[in-house]
Amino acid sequence: MPGGPPAAAQQRRIPWGRAGGTIGLLAASYWIFMSPYSQLLGPFPYRRRTSEPVVALTFDDGPNEPYTSQIADLLAKAGVRATFFAVGACVERHPETARRILQDGHVLGSHGYSHDVRRCTGRAALSDEFRRAEDVFTRHLGLRPALFRPPWLLRTPALFDLARRHALHLVSGEFAHPLEVFQPSPERIARRTVAKARPGGLIIFHDGFDARGGDRSSTVAAVDLVIAGLSARGYRFTTVDRLLGVDPYRAA
Ligand SMILES: [Zn+2]
Repeated sequence: MPGGPPAAAQQRRIPWGRAGGTIGLLAASYWIFMSPYSQLLGPFPYRRRTSEPVVALTFDDGPNEPYTSQIADLLAKAGVRATFFAVGACVERHPETARRILQDGHVLGSHGYSHDVRRCTGRAALSDEFRRAEDVFTRHLGLRPALFRPPWLLRTPALFDLARRHALHLVSGEFAHPLEVFQPSPERIARRTVAKARPGGLIIFHDGFDARGGDRSSTVAAVDLVIAGLSARGYRFTTVDRLLGVDPYRAA
């Protein structure tokens, strides 16, 4: 676009002052690049439009023991299938847990190799993350996930372009509780999750923290409460691929 920023944008900035402008810019950047909802850069489903009472429980940043196995035990007891967006480095640490997840009938999506925020934006780093994660999934599990949730939900035009080339479906979701990563009480997490659940929703929990492990006992207990609470409201549980109507894995 010739002639710099449009006059209207410049005029709008004047009454805000410098601080207001900066905050506005940060808010806009967050919305475009990190919000679970923005579709500005490309399709990033956080929900399927449906009136059916069905949701997909998803777990990011694992496997992380003993919490991932505890969640798998709960899901097995309840007969619920879920989707785990696993980190390549964590699968290397706990390949047996990843295999158990698959044996239990859950779906494994990719959450990159390192979960390092510095490797989420540049094309070369992203490409390397894709390649290394795929290598781990292929070597340890014999499959190539087609579902990819970007770490921090951070996305750039390069991510969308690479995802297209690698035949990956980028997947968003809605946070179970905005502070769930910091482990508030299970009741707090569950109350909010159940209250906010909508038909067709993809709900994000964390069975690990930033690929570093960490105590997830609040999440484990919350998942039990959420399954009970949503079941009482008539909800069913499904996996992300079924909810979105896509294949979970690519051809070997
Ligand atoms: Zn993550």
